[in-house]
Amino acid sequence: ATPTAVMVGTGKGASEGVLIKGGNALEKAHKVKTVVFDKTGTLTVGKPVVVSVMLFSTVSMEQFCEMASAVEVNSEHPIARAVVDYAKGLCQKLESLNEYVKEAKDFEVHPGAGVSGKVGDIIVSVGNKRFMQACNVSIGPEVEDYISEHEQLAQTCVLVGVDGDVAGAFAVTDPVKPEAGRVISFLRSMGISSIMVTGDNWATASAIAKEVGIENVIAETDPLGKADKIRSLQMKGMIVAMVGDGINDSPALAAADVGMAIGAGTDIAIESADIVLIKSNLEDVVTAIDLSRKISFRIR
Ligand code: ADP
Ligand code: MG
Repeated sequence: ATPTAVMVGTGKGASEGVLIKGGNALEKAHKVKTVVFDKTGTLTVGKPVVVSVMLFSTVSMEQFCEMASAVEVNSEHPIARAVVDYAKGLCQKLESLNEYVKEAKDFEVHPGAGVSGKVGDIIVSVGNKRFMQACNVSIGPEVEDYISEHEQLAQTCVLVGVDGDVAGAFAVTDPVKPEAGRVISFLRSMGISSIMVTGDNWATASAIAKEVGIENVIAETDPLGKADKIRSLQMKGMIVAMVGDGINDSPALAAADVGMAIGAGTDIAIESADIVLIKSNLEDVVTAIDLSRKISFRIR
């Protein structure tokens, strides 16, 4: 495409809520054969809510929620917001409003896994099963049962490790975006295949993939694993687009031929991407590819 065509395309994109940061990505987008989608906040709405809570120890519900939210209140992850909101709601009911926002000390983020911190003298880790294992928290059979029961329902379990044991767990649900299925099948009609990559577990990921019509799923990946997946597709000669919203997607967004960030996503994702979907609507993945087709064919 000529510089003028790119400029016109960029302007047109901007008016449709597709912010194009580099002419290069716009020129490549029509050659994309595979679109890799992140799950949480990309295919799903990204506003998970707690739908269940279960205690596996003698701690009170109130103490449990306080510990979990003291750690999660420091996290930017959408799951963290769900946990904190739930804890706040509960503590309001329990009239212990001053208690719940104790912030944990020594807060640490483990992207794609969970968060940890010290509440008083107690080390509390909040995250998925793999994260518990990494923190040497043992997972008993009743915890395993809780996890598999909720994962089958496409829910994600958040485990809270205290003193080497799972003190309790939350199950969160995050509905898919209404347009997701439509976009995936439209891309397929354009000859473009879709893949899901997520840090979430296999059972939940597969349930969500089924809902939106994606057959190719990669779950339980860390941020660098997402980028590796992009590179392995590129090594097969494919031009690859990545759509993501999180800190955990930024290496993959940077590695992709065309990185597209969800407008409502984190700053780091937006910085790493070539294109920003301002409206956070997945239909704009198609808008961006269309725009690229138009500018490339106009001048040839
Ligand atoms: P995705 O790839 O779907 O956007 P992430 O890579 O951000 O998901 O996270 C993967 C998994 O790590 C989550 O499904 C969750 O189990 C766990 N996790 C990450 N951050 C947190 C957190 N702050 N609190 C609880 N769990 C977390
Ligand atoms: Mg995400």
